[in-house]
Parts: sequence; structure tokens; C-alpha cells
Amino acid sequence: MGKIKKILIANRGEIAVRIIRAIREMELSPVVVYSDADELSLAVKLSDEAYHIGESQSSKSYLVMDKIIDVAKKSNADAIHPGYGFLAENAEFAKRVEAEGIIFIGPSPEAIINMGSKTLSRDIMKKAGIPVVPGMVDAITDMKDLEKTAEEIGYPVLLKASAGGGGKGMRRVNKKEDLEKSFKLSSSEALSSFGDAAVYVEKFIEEPHHIEIQVLADKYGNTVHLGERECSVQRRYQKIIEETPSPFINDDIRDKMGAIAIQAAKAVNYSNAGTVEFIVDKNFNFYFLEMNTRLQVEHPITEMVTGIDLVKEQILIAEGHKLSFTQEDIKPRGSSIECRIYAEDPFNNFAPSPGRIIEYVPPAGGIGVRDDSGVYEGFEVPVHYDPLISKLVTWGRDRTEAINRMKRALFEYRIAGINTSIPYFLQILENEEFLSGNYTTNLIERIESKKVELSEENELVALFASGIREMNGKMSECSGTNSGENGKSWKLHGRMKNLRRF
Ligand code: ADP
Repeated sequence: MGKIKKILIANRGEIAVRIIRAIREMELSPVVVYSDADELSLAVKLSDEAYHIGESQSSKSYLVMDKIIDVAKKSNADAIHPGYGFLAENAEFAKRVEAEGIIFIGPSPEAIINMGSKTLSRDIMKKAGIPVVPGMVDAITDMKDLEKTAEEIGYPVLLKASAGGGGKGMRRVNKKEDLEKSFKLSSSEALSSFGDAAVYVEKFIEEPHHIEIQVLADKYGNTVHLGERECSVQRRYQKIIEETPSPFINDDIRDKMGAIAIQAAKAVNYSNAGTVEFIVDKNFNFYFLEMNTRLQVEHPITEMVTGIDLVKEQILIAEGHKLSFTQEDIKPRGSSIECRIYAEDPFNNFAPSPGRIIEYVPPAGGIGVRDDSGVYEGFEVPVHYDPLISKLVTWGRDRTEAINRMKRALFEYRIAGINTSIPYFLQILENEEFLSGNYTTNLIERIESKKVELSEENELVALFASGIREMNGKMSECSGTNSGENGKSWKLHGRMKNLRRF
């Protein structure tokens, strides 16, 4: 395996910036590709070389393998880092990259295939003695089979797309009468989202926790885990806040989950960084959900408590190095939490809020705060991609310190021109159930079903945000990018002045 000197990043946004940082610190050279919409992106500005690969639509740029491989060859890149999303879990891409003699920074194409389908991976895991959620192993081909399995495992059940991701095609079914209709809906959603109509059924676990284990494996079979991430703060099956350690599990369960995650990775000869996701019931029974064969959005919280840079480890592993530490060397310290800052409007059903950022002061100052951002003041957030613009991460000696630090950082975060999810987080961070640590994936549903009282300080932040939002509305009325909304009063500005520190 050759020495890596130059790495092409086949991605955009915050994760491209994150990867550039690791590459620079290793004294290597980052190359980026960009679409029309990303010509002025932060990643382009921070790279050594940047190549235009097409129109803004990802199917004409970031998803076109030929274009990316061409740039890798043209720029003499030794390796490609795919980030997450786009081509990161595309086995054909990994195969083609390697066929060109370029190192793919990720697992083997075989491991991607084996873990890429929920049904296939369930089958492999079951055979390896790993607990999976009770249900079918193969996709549904016959209504009778589906009815029989649903009866056996007991209602409620969950229909899921085999090729699933992002909660698409997932449907809870409470009774037999709804089964056929739900199956048809899931199947057509699966077809339109993934080009594959295959759906299977598993037991719906009530009030579950989503807890995942970070794994690192080199090419010589050395596999370690870096502890867990609690990802139960979800909206429509999508994570929005993650924390580590999980306040729900104890050391005994943690060790067991870690050992099973390693076993799962070994069952597919996994190498590089990967994440084994589990669903955990109230009695601490845990079941394999899926393995993500790539870097996870929420990886920074693991880095904060372990001190290990996961992207650097990915590069070293891909270059053929052995892991430089053992399981015993990994001693997580303190607590870390991440809020995913989206360009969307929490006051308007989370509608996307693209547009120009006219003021941007991230709160990356002070002890224990990390802002993994892909934007800057003046940047125009494109409509074409995932609206994640930044990940705000804090570390504390314990959970309370990490949470309070997050509240402080959110309080300082200044962003205008677009709407963001910042005010929404404050409701969660002050919620009693969240603060108790014993919350499940139903938390957000419960929060949204009742009006939440915020503390005075956070009420101010929320007011401030809604003032900015109103201002954004007024501005976009002029520029025609955002839809303005009336109603909220400018008298808030009087109170907002309290927050103007600059
Ligand atoms: P996707 O790949 O579409 O994101 P996952 O299998 O990772 O789907 O599940 C996403 C989320 O859906 C989980 O974090 C959890 O909240 C919920 N979920 C998945 N399977 C179950 C289940 N069997 N019972 C209850 N909730 C589930």
C-alpha cells in the first residue's frame, strides 16, 4: 500500500471542512471537488486544489463517479475520502476507486455490500449470533407471510425498506387491518427513495433508545470500540442531538454492547471506522439495527471524550497502518453533546431556509466548545443539499457541565440571513425528561405535544432568534429568497438588545 500524500474529498459542506482539517494536521494535501452552488464554499477556500465537477444537483456532480475519479487522476490524489452521504456507502464506487489504484478511505466493497442492505445484514448478524430485532430476515414477497410473521412477533410492528436510510419507507402498524395498506405505502416510498421496493417487517420496540457503538478496525483484524453515543433525541426518526456517554446504560451493558459491536464488525471482516447501531428496550435488551460503513455525522462527540481523531485514524488505517492503541488504552473522559444546526425554520414546520448568511459569529470560544461548520458570513446556503450547516459540540467533566456549556454556546451563536434550528434546541435542553437522562426516542413527540416553558435566559435567546427570523423574512421579501412571515412583533427588539454583546 502506497504512502498517502494527497487526498481528494468526495463531499461538501461541514464534513469536507472537517476532513480537510485532519489532512492538514497530518501535513498532507487536501483536494476538493465542487458543484456550481459550492464554488465559494468554505471547503473550496480551505483546500489546496479545487475542481469544478458540474451542476448543483448532486446527480450531476457529487454523485457522478466518473467525474470524481477523473479529478483524482488529474490531481494525482493517492486516496479518496467519501465523507458521509453521497457515494460514501456505494460499493461500486469503492470498487472503481480501488481498480484505478487509488486508496478508498473506508471499508472493503464486500463489507459495504454486506452491511448495505438491512435484510442481508440481519441475516449475517443472526448467523454470527448477534441479537437482531425479532422479525423477518428476507424481504416480503407474500401478504400471507407478512401477516403470519406480524402475528408471531405481535403488534405493533414496523415495516422497513431493505435499502433503507433516513427513516424513509418506515411505517408503524398497530393492527392487522392496516397491514396491507401500510405495506403498499412503504413499498412505494422505498421504490421512489432507493429504487428498490423491498420491504421487511420487524417488531416495533416501544419507548426505545437508539444507542450506537463507534468501531475502529485495521486491516489486520485488530478491532476496538470507542464507546457509545446516545442518539435518542430524534425527530421523525432523524437524530438531532447526540451525547456520550449514554446516561441510560451502565458499565456492564456498555461493555456487552461494545463486545457485540466488535463481533459484528469482525463478522464482515470490517476495516476502517464504522458504527454499529442498536435499539435498546427499557429492560436493557439490545438488538442490532444496522451498521453504517462510514464516518458518522455525530463522530465529534466520541472524539471529544476519547481524544482520538477519527478521520486521522481512517487515513492511517487506509494507508495500511496497524491501530496504535488497544481496547485498554481507550479511556473516555467526561461527557460530550452535539446539536445539529440546520438551515431550517423550527417555527414553520422545519421548512428549509436556504439563502445568504449576512451575519455569522459562531461561539467557538471558551473551554470545551467545538463548532464544526461548513459556512461563513456572506456564504449562500444552497437549496440543493442536506440543510446541515454546522455541528455545535461541547465537552464537560460531567453531563451537566456539557449541557450547560451547550446552552451557553447556543446563547452566543449569532447567525442571521437564514433561519436555524438553534431556538428549538433550547426547549430540549431544558426539558425535564431530557435532563433526567432517561429519555427515549419518543421525547420529541412529547415535547412537541405540549407548550414548553423556557427559562428567562433561554426565552430571550428564542425571542432573539424569532426576531432574527422576522428580520430574515423582511429581508427576503426584498431579495425574494425566503418567504417572509408576519405576526411576531418588532417590540421584541427591546429585549433582544440585552443579547447584543458586540
Ligand atoms: P434508517 O436507516 O432509515 O435511519 P434505522 O434502522 O437506523 O433506519 O432506524 C432509525 C430510527 O427508527 C431508530 O433510531 C429508531 O428511532 C427507529 N426504529 C428503528 N427500528 C425500530 C424498531 N424496531 N422499533 C422502534 N423504533 C425503531
